Order: sequence, then structure tokens, then C-alpha cells
Amino acid sequence: MNISQIDVYQVDLPYAGGTYRLSGGREYASFDATIVRLTSDTGVTGFGESTPFGATYIAAHALGVRAGVKEIAPAILGLDPRRVDRVYDAMDAALVGHSHAKAALDVACWDLFGKAVSMAVCDLLGGRTSEPMGVISSIYAGSPEAMRERVQAHRLQGYRGHSIKIGEDPQLDADRVTACLADRQPGEYFIVDANGGLTVETGLRFLRLLPRHADIVLEAPCATWREHMSLRKRTDMPMIWDELANSDAAVTQLISDDAAEGVGLKISKNGGLTPCRRQRDMCISAGYSLSVQDTVGSDIAFAAIAHMGQTIPPHLLRCILDTRDMVSVSTASAAQKGAFERREGWVTAPQSPGLGIEPNMQVLGEPVMTFTHLAA
Ligand SMILES: [Mg+2]
Repeated sequence: MNISQIDVYQVDLPYAGGTYRLSGGREYASFDATIVRLTSDTGVTGFGESTPFGATYIAAHALGVRAGVKEIAPAILGLDPRRVDRVYDAMDAALVGHSHAKAALDVACWDLFGKAVSMAVCDLLGGRTSEPMGVISSIYAGSPEAMRERVQAHRLQGYRGHSIKIGEDPQLDADRVTACLADRQPGEYFIVDANGGLTVETGLRFLRLLPRHADIVLEAPCATWREHMSLRKRTDMPMIWDELANSDAAVTQLISDDAAEGVGLKISKNGGLTPCRRQRDMCISAGYSLSVQDTVGSDIAFAAIAHMGQTIPPHLLRCILDTRDMVSVSTASAAQKGAFERREGWVTAPQSPGLGIEPNMQVLGEPVMTFTHLAA
């Protein structure tokens, strides 16, 4: 079996909640998705998505995804999509870095692989656990009262975990966290995510202004490794890494530096399911908790998240992110009725082959690029 055609689609995904706000004055109203379809010489297809969170979140942007795919695609035509590590080798040989471009093609290989052997992706990735996965909310930065209300709205939908976005004035950030924790219910957990928006100084001031014994986990406080390590040395607050944990090398380094208690794996940030599978195992070996997410994305991105999350032992899986909540366009439906449905904040990866999705070709529209393998 080999990859005989690659089609690339572009879809705009408006943010479902109006404007999303992150530290540093960053605002997002819509996201530019790249979706790829691989077709094998035997007529099997596989889909993958890469949707960066704008151009100001990490070193990834939508035009870069498509430019990267254009660079890589000719190098993987003719390869066996089931040999995912070898396809990845060919992508690395064709283009250094640019994990977010490789992610869409890599996920599409896994989808195709699963359909070719009639197995769900999570089972190919090592086998599903039997536990449903908890979905975390994403509470964008705003006034403390507005954020408290957004937490409550998510609580009523069954969410037990909340990701509180901060990263501005230390007092305002402490007030936001205090407000969000005010109505805490038994069993709920709170991650406070600065998306790298704190300096060591503002981080220390923020931590001092929190109520004593505030039970939170601090995510991605600082933008650089040095700042993060400096802050970490001066606090006993549990920490998880996200933006800085973006490669095998970074995950190796953070374990050896004892730099965190967990990691946020984002499928496109970390380069697709193949590197996420390795980094998952490294983190499990280290006893880290894992959040499985993506930068943002639609149904196809969420399917990849669900399959990866489903392979993590429940005591180490903190949560998954349902990217479908963040956008108002649906790019695919479940291949099996009722699959991917959330029940009281919990979701399970489906049994159907591959990612278990049926892409909506009307939403995808005409391909913006097509690459075809000319068989010898
Ligand atoms: Mg994060």
C-alpha cells in the first residue's frame, strides 16, 4: 500500500464565543484550519487537521502549515502510510522543524492505517483504557466576575476541570483565580494557565497574592526556560508545561531538570500522533500527569485528541480538551452514531476504524492543493 494522492483543504473556523483573549493583549476571533486527505493506491483515505491558534501563540501559523505541507508532500507520496515512523523520517528529511505542518499528514496516516486494518487509532497507539475521559473548560481572561460566571456555565454542562487564563497584573490575576475558585464543588480541579505571560517578578507577586492553600496547578507561567526554572526554584506550587514542551528533546530536558509535574500534549504543537506517542510514554515513565489537547481545531483535531487521550492510564490523564467547543463550524461527523458524544463532561474514543469520523466534504470545499504520485 502506498500514498497515491494528497489533497489539502482550507477552512475558516470562527471562535464560538466571540473573541478569545490571552495574556499580552492577544485576541482571536477566527482560526484558519488546514485539513489534509491522503488516498492510498488501494482507495483508502485518511484525514488530519492542523489549526494553529493564530500567529501569536507559538511559532506556528496557518500559512506556514500549508507551505510546510507543500514542501513535504512530494517526499511522502509513494510511501506506505501504515509505516508511520518511516513516513515521519521522510518528513524530517524533507523539512527541518515545522511540526505543525507535519502533524496534519501524520494524523492522516494513522487514520488511513486504522481504516486499512479495521482498527481504531487508539488501539493502534497501544490500546484503549476502559475509562471515559474528563473534558476541561477553557476560561479566557476577563473580569473576575465574568470568569466566575463562565466557570459556572461550564460546571452546569458537567465540566469538572477548568483552565483559567491569566497573565496580566498580579492583583487582577489573583482576583480572577479567587473568583473562579469561589464556588468550587467537590472533585473539581483548577489549572491556572498563563500561556507564558508572566515574568519571574509578576509570577512571584501573583503567587503571593493568592489565598493561602489555593489548590491549583500553575501551567506555563513564563515564556522561556530560564524564567520558568527561576520561578520554580522559589515556589512549591505544582506546575505543568505546555508551550515549552513541544518536542522529544524538550520533554527529555524537562524530565531531567525536574521542571514540572505534568505536560500538556497538543497534537499539532507536538508534531502529530507519532511524536505524541513517544512523548506520552516518556511522561508516563516519569510519572507525569498529561493533558491531551490541541492548539485549537475542529472535529478532526478532536478525534485525534480523543484517541491519544484514550491510551493514557486514567491516574495520569488529567483531562482532554474538546476543541469542538471553541469553534462554530463542524468539519466531520462521527462514523458511528453517538460516538464522540459528551455525557456530563465525559467522552470516550469510538470503536470504529481509524479516527472514526466522516468528514463533511461540503464544508471542506475544493482542495487548495493536490499532489499525485506518478506510479512507475
Ligand atoms: Mg496551556
